[in-house]
Amino acid sequence: MFKKTPVEASDQPIPYEAERRAMVEYQIHRRGIRDEKVLEAMLSVPRHEFVPAPYLGSAYDDRPLPIGETETISQPYIVAAMTAAAQVHPGDQVLEIGTGSGYQAAVLACLGARVYSIERNFLLAEAARTRLARLGYHGIEVIWGDGTEGHAAAAPYAAILVTAAAPKVPQPLLDQLADGGRLVIPVGNLWHQELEVIFKHGNQLATRVLDPCQFVPLIGRHAWPEGKGQFE
Ligand code: SAM
Repeated sequence: MFKKTPVEASDQPIPYEAERRAMVEYQIHRRGIRDEKVLEAMLSVPRHEFVPAPYLGSAYDDRPLPIGETETISQPYIVAAMTAAAQVHPGDQVLEIGTGSGYQAAVLACLGARVYSIERNFLLAEAARTRLARLGYHGIEVIWGDGTEGHAAAAPYAAILVTAAAPKVPQPLLDQLADGGRLVIPVGNLWHQELEVIFKHGNQLATRVLDPCQFVPLIGRHAWPEGKGQFE
């Protein structure tokens, strides 16, 4: 089940293998995430490649980490929980809002999704695009822009994941969700949110509330205005 990244030579030891296995076992599997495909994806993506050098030794810790620009890479459990809730299948069109380091996008790509990932911070978008290409992840398009508008050009999406905290669910994302699709989004105030999964069936929406969480703010036309504080 443990895989090398697309660019790792087959006869080399796998860096941080023990840490990655422990992360998946203790932080994810034992907390109730049993979807084998999600566990495999979390095992296969080298999280240490997505964190800045000073945090290499903490890459597999049970917490979010700074990635620069006052933003963060999310806690591994939250990434796994959001991925499991999105119920991604090979060939699905998936939209992620908040590329950050590119880690969540890589996990989604491992499940065989065609991933569109939007990041509002230009430097983070550029860095993530370069990193994902260097690591050999294909099928991910990183887009610089306001993700609260979605990405109508590739809609509809089987799943949409918002990895920043929204005061309410942005209407363009609901509009761009496919019939039968899942939208996974933290909704709440700047200090505390609940992770919601919204299921779309025709004109009907059904919401399931998952875990409490604390994300950095989603800043854009259909979310918080520019200048809101950074948390997580
Ligand atoms: N998914 C990321 C990862 O795997 O590293 C972590 C995302 S980080 C918690 C939240 C990100 O959302 C930040 O990089 C932030 O710049 C971005 N963001 C906030 N508002 C946004 C918006 N309207 N559109 C796109 N990205 C946004």
